Amino acid sequence: MQQPDPKEIMMLNRIVVFSVIVFFIIISAIYLLFVSGKTGQYSDFEDYIFGTYVRIRISSKVNPSTISKAIFAEMKRLEKKFDPYIESSIIYKLNHSEDWVEVDDETLSVIDLALKIARDTEGAFDPALGRLIQLWGFSKFTEREATGTFTLPSASEIAEAASNSGYQKIAIDYVNKKIKTNGAWIDLGGILKGYALKRAYQIAKEFDKSCHGFVETGGQIMILGPKYNKTNWVIGVRDPRGQPGENITIVYLSEGSVATSGDYERFFIVDNVRYHHILDPRTGYPSNKAISATVIANDPVIADAFSTAAFVLGEDRWLFTRTVFPKYGAEVLLVTPKKQLLRTDNFRIYEMSDR
Ligand code: AMP
Ligand code: MG
Repeated sequence: MQQPDPKEIMMLNRIVVFSVIVFFIIISAIYLLFVSGKTGQYSDFEDYIFGTYVRIRISSKVNPSTISKAIFAEMKRLEKKFDPYIESSIIYKLNHSEDWVEVDDETLSVIDLALKIARDTEGAFDPALGRLIQLWGFSKFTEREATGTFTLPSASEIAEAASNSGYQKIAIDYVNKKIKTNGAWIDLGGILKGYALKRAYQIAKEFDKSCHGFVETGGQIMILGPKYNKTNWVIGVRDPRGQPGENITIVYLSEGSVATSGDYERFFIVDNVRYHHILDPRTGYPSNKAISATVIANDPVIADAFSTAAFVLGEDRWLFTRTVFPKYGAEVLLVTPKKQLLRTDNFRIYEMSDR
């Protein structure tokens, strides 16, 4: 019998090893291209904006990092445009002008919507509390928190700021595209994150209509599509008196948005009293008729603004909230100061697991 040539054996071995490697590369490429894009290999992105974190989890056939970067760039644009303390912003300009100010279409529609929500919530949501928010120190909260320099404003200072606040002062001229603030200061802090999440959704869907995942910022989540394109996302609603991660309930959502406003987000304590960032426009003081309010709505702008409003209305005006809010597509969970849970009728449906 002829002995095999060792060189031939080596050559054959190399061919076999090479074929196996090529085979695995092809299989991996097919998996990445077709399978993972569909079942959902999620990519995460995290950064800092609006004085808080934004987290984007996305699965898409388009490069997820391209989508996340575009969303973050849009959020930066909105922060620059609508932050009342950035001198180049349109809100700064409006707040510091005694006359009519010409605005672009986006500014007009965001302010118009904020005023509509103010009317719909009988002024509980009020986008013209800027002077009060500044007086209480919540406009520079992180700075003050770092230095621990919180002082209580006096009753007369509060009365003075309150008399120069309120959405009824804001006038819109739709024909000439102008807005006049009449001495009040606009502050869109209670609606801007919701608007940014609405833009995030639009941007993600423009890149890839079938992308899925979510965008989360400052206590609010906007869902881009069901988990793995088939199941609900499981979202914890934070216990307002628990540690981060401790939940008061869980909601199951495959679309829409959920926002929570709470007195634990930005606050300071003086003489055992908690002073936080959500003000009751009727008094000029932090609202103390709730400790958190969560709203589920398809529209993230509604979820954001109505959660702030539900918080302000609190337990005293719960009947108004539970009767009126669902008409605007807002389902509410309110946590009263005694930690009682109040729900609108459909809120419970979102708490039911489908498994
Ligand atoms: P949120 O965390 O969405 O409830 O919004 C709270 C932020 O909205 C605050 O930090 C203020 O900038 C602003 N704000 C405070 N009180 C009100 C209010 N009653 N209506 C509308 N915006 C408010
Ligand atoms: Mg809000």
